[in-house]
Amino acid sequence: MRFLTLNRAFKEIKSMRIPFKGVKKLDIPVENQEKYLSVASENYDNLDTIILKAIDREPFDETNSVLLSNYRDNLQGIVEKFIKKYDTKISIVLEKGKENLLAKVDKIDVKSISYKDSFLRDEALAFKLGIKEKFKVVELYDFVEEFSDSLEDENLKLLSIGGNHIKNPGVYLVPKGAAVKDILNTLGEDINSIEKVVVNGSLGGKALGSLEERVVKGIKSLTINKEVVYEESPCISCGRCSYICPVKLLPMKLESFVINDDSTGFKEYNGDLCTKCGLCSYICPSRRHIAHRIATGQRK
Ligand code: SF4
Ligand code: SF4
Repeated sequence: MRFLTLNRAFKEIKSMRIPFKGVKKLDIPVENQEKYLSVASENYDNLDTIILKAIDREPFDETNSVLLSNYRDNLQGIVEKFIKKYDTKISIVLEKGKENLLAKVDKIDVKSISYKDSFLRDEALAFKLGIKEKFKVVELYDFVEEFSDSLEDENLKLLSIGGNHIKNPGVYLVPKGAAVKDILNTLGEDINSIEKVVVNGSLGGKALGSLEERVVKGIKSLTINKEVVYEESPCISCGRCSYICPVKLLPMKLESFVINDDSTGFKEYNGDLCTKCGLCSYICPSRRHIAHRIATGQRK
């Protein structure tokens, strides 16, 4: 059993960031790539402010940071294009201490929050930022993917690849629609030894069904860790999961509702508000699969 304090848990997660070595382009042929290029649009009508979250909160993901440091000019162009179309204010939220990643970009109001606050729900985040008018929170990466015709080439997308089972972690430009298997082969990874690839982060992401799956819109990172199977042990009521939960839920209670098939209790204790950030599972000394169970409860 391990005991993590709240600060220690956040420190541990942050220490898993990929050391940034520049963006490398991977040449991978993709047959019928046009099938993978279309991007469904979000609805931005009748909003006063778009809050762009530019914090990479997941371990092994530096994609937003790379957008800020390497593609500032593109960002300016995207913002102008967006404002012309929607006449909406844009607030970009950076992590405290990383403000220097963004040189002044016209028409963007820059705000900063702590890493811990990047886990807040949208409404709580807007409240913290003092934004009261009609808003929508969008991850910077998704916004850029939707509004940029090109970073360097319209057929490419940025992708973080990391984890303790990756020899060449980094942020790469890969062809849209490339198969995960081809990406990993191109990087020289031993794909036969890979047990699981997690998309969009080991805290709140989901496992890929197969390495044949392709990187399409919304896929920002691939995480590949050596699988360590932890035995779950009974809950010891330490309270850590509720302490860390950014939505102020009682994860241990929600987990037990799911185990006992009690959907009334699950609803009463606001299980639907869980953002699936995965922090409760991460900090649990009994290694309980809390977030996974709560996600199952939400689907019922
Ligand atoms: S995954 Fe856990 S910590 Fe995160 S919001 Fe849900 S219950 Fe709270
Ligand atoms: S589920 Fe885990 S973190 Fe939550 S109270 Fe029980 S032992 Fe502690």
